[in-house]
Amino acid sequence: MLDLIIKNGKVVSDGSVVSVDVGVKNGKIAALGANLNGAETVADARDFYVLPGAVDAHTHLAMPFGGTVTADGYLSGTRAAVCGGTTTVFDYAIQRKGGGIVETVKKRREMCETEACCDYAFHAAITDLGESESLLDEFDAAAAYGITSFKTFMVYKKEGMMIGDGMFVKILKRAKETGILINVHAENPDVIDANIEDFRKSGTMTAYYHYLSRPEFVEEEAVKRAIHFAAAVRAPLYIVHLASVGGVKAAEAAKRDGHSVYAETCPHYLEYTSDVYKRPDGVNFICSPPMKGPKSRDALRKAVADGLIDTVATDHCPFKRSEKEWGKDDFTKTPNGCAGIETMYPYMLSLANAGKISYPRAVELCSTAPARLFGCKDKGGLHIGKDADIVLYDPKKPFTVSAGNMHSDGDHTIWEGLRLKGYPVKTFLRGKLVYDNGEYVGVPGEGKYIKRAKFSCQ
Ligand SMILES: [Zn+2]
Repeated sequence: MLDLIIKNGKVVSDGSVVSVDVGVKNGKIAALGANLNGAETVADARDFYVLPGAVDAHTHLAMPFGGTVTADGYLSGTRAAVCGGTTTVFDYAIQRKGGGIVETVKKRREMCETEACCDYAFHAAITDLGESESLLDEFDAAAAYGITSFKTFMVYKKEGMMIGDGMFVKILKRAKETGILINVHAENPDVIDANIEDFRKSGTMTAYYHYLSRPEFVEEEAVKRAIHFAAAVRAPLYIVHLASVGGVKAAEAAKRDGHSVYAETCPHYLEYTSDVYKRPDGVNFICSPPMKGPKSRDALRKAVADGLIDTVATDHCPFKRSEKEWGKDDFTKTPNGCAGIETMYPYMLSLANAGKISYPRAVELCSTAPARLFGCKDKGGLHIGKDADIVLYDPKKPFTVSAGNMHSDGDHTIWEGLRLKGYPVKTFLRGKLVYDNGEYVGVPGEGKYIKRAKFSCQ
């Protein structure tokens, strides 16, 4: 006897779309076949797509930054996630000077235990190697604890998060030996600081100058440098939130040369250009890297369609409207980051619905590839034995995004007014209904920590 059968839907998994019923038992996918029968609950998915839940590999929840804390904690952030069809969220646990990796992640994990509405994993963000570089000796223990990817920052010097090139190479080498995938935020900090200095002198500090302080070539240089080092020591590298045409070209060249380079982008780089910073609410769009010019947006759209981009994630990092306003006359005072955790999967699926990418490609980008790259063996597809993280998507349902119909604690969204054709109508987390037609129906704390496998993609 099965617990749940999802009947008559179009199942998207493994690069194809097939009409098949999905049977769930004890939170796992237990059967796939025509005319399944015998379950306590039957969900009719006629006219719907049946998809694996999205895996958002890039979020910042309950994160102190820019003089405040992100508007979403673990509860509201993961609640918003499941209401948009995302059932696994990766958060950044930022290691500070002198802190251990496992110790840092454990603290964050404790916060999630009573709050998480979806399953969760952590990338540790490494900012300091400690006395006599003792942190390098902890990489094995971190991997054993299930932390098999680390984030590194080539920027945020003043915030104490930047690492230099020397440390970057040491981390890459040790990570390669221990089965850990290094993520990098690639921008050139010195050029950014020099630009900001110039704009301050000339008194031009409105939101658009945030973009001008971090133009395309600032990312391009750092992406090339990061790839150069990773290729030199033959370590795999994952570039987060790729936003520039030059960065796309650099990643493309590295892949062509056979290097294990993976690229992530975010929906906001696919939708918007730097013109948003000229809007009266331009400060709301301040994030780093900023939205770039139309050439970059077009290159990213193409890369998403043709396979060069490996994953789409959100970089969800919301701040209240009043906090974004701190930088109205000086963009450096606006905390960097935007909301996106609830809109990512609906947005990417709407591209599939409009025929710009295929449904299997949307699923690959948002679920299968991040699960594979980051060692979430039970996630990312609808196969027998995997977790029954399942989304029912109604391709006909119209939906207009508004802060009022999101489930985040943020008070605004950069996606306000976006009209989508098609929207998720149900989300199951390990077989349990957690989102139902506009309502969160789960229980905070039911999300589980994912102990991840070591990196093994070639
Ligand atoms: Zn980020």
